[in-house]
Amino acid sequence: MIGQRSETSDASGAHFAFTDRWGGVSAVPYEELNLGGAVGDDPETVRTNRELAAKSLGLDPDRVVWMNQVHGNDVAEVDGPWTTGDIPPVDGLVTATRGLALAVLTADCVPVLLADPVAGVVGAAHAGRPGMVAGIVPAAVDAMASLGADPARIVARTGPAVCGRCYEVPEEMRAEVAAVEPAAYAETGWGTPAVDVVAGVHAQLERLGVRDRQRSPVCTRESADHFSYRRDRTTGRLAGYVWLD
Ligand SMILES: [Zn+2]
Repeated sequence: MIGQRSETSDASGAHFAFTDRWGGVSAVPYEELNLGGAVGDDPETVRTNRELAAKSLGLDPDRVVWMNQVHGNDVAEVDGPWTTGDIPPVDGLVTATRGLALAVLTADCVPVLLADPVAGVVGAAHAGRPGMVAGIVPAAVDAMASLGADPARIVARTGPAVCGRCYEVPEEMRAEVAAVEPAAYAETGWGTPAVDVVAGVHAQLERLGVRDRQRSPVCTRESADHFSYRRDRTTGRLAGYVWLD
């Protein structure tokens, strides 16, 4: 069965879910629930894992939309699954189609899930360090607004991601990131320069007027129950899912 995935939903019918690494059929080093299709795992195995994860969430696997993530700031509006084999290179998805789930893959990067249940609009974004700096979060909120969402009504949830105490970067890189997003300035637990992408994402959401924000307490690099690229390099991908009833 699927492991300790967290799923929350509220009376408005908005659902937010984040997987952990357990409950799938992938072999080492992707054990067990690798949901990423571009990390070297067997494609059939990934397909099975995606079906297992969807079913555990009460979703039709064919009503989940995935991205070809490239650490950029492009957002696609969708009203159904991709119909061609080529998934466009985007790091954000928005939809006004109820029941359609948007999915984001991560292993240390920040999965950002957004919903305005009143407008009937949801969004998902992949915010690693480059994407956060490039503005994928405001781009996703803007795309939702163009579909009628109001930032003041948007509910935002960020999932398991590497924490600021674990994400060591060169001093120069920290300065570059902090010049764009001061809230991301951090220091590792061992006293060297670091970046806190989660803090950066939440600072951006706050400035955009998104008040209802929660973050996962899980640091992927510190958790044996989650995939971490920075810890393991060759590893699987977790997924975050957002949808409206
Ligand atoms: Zn950490």
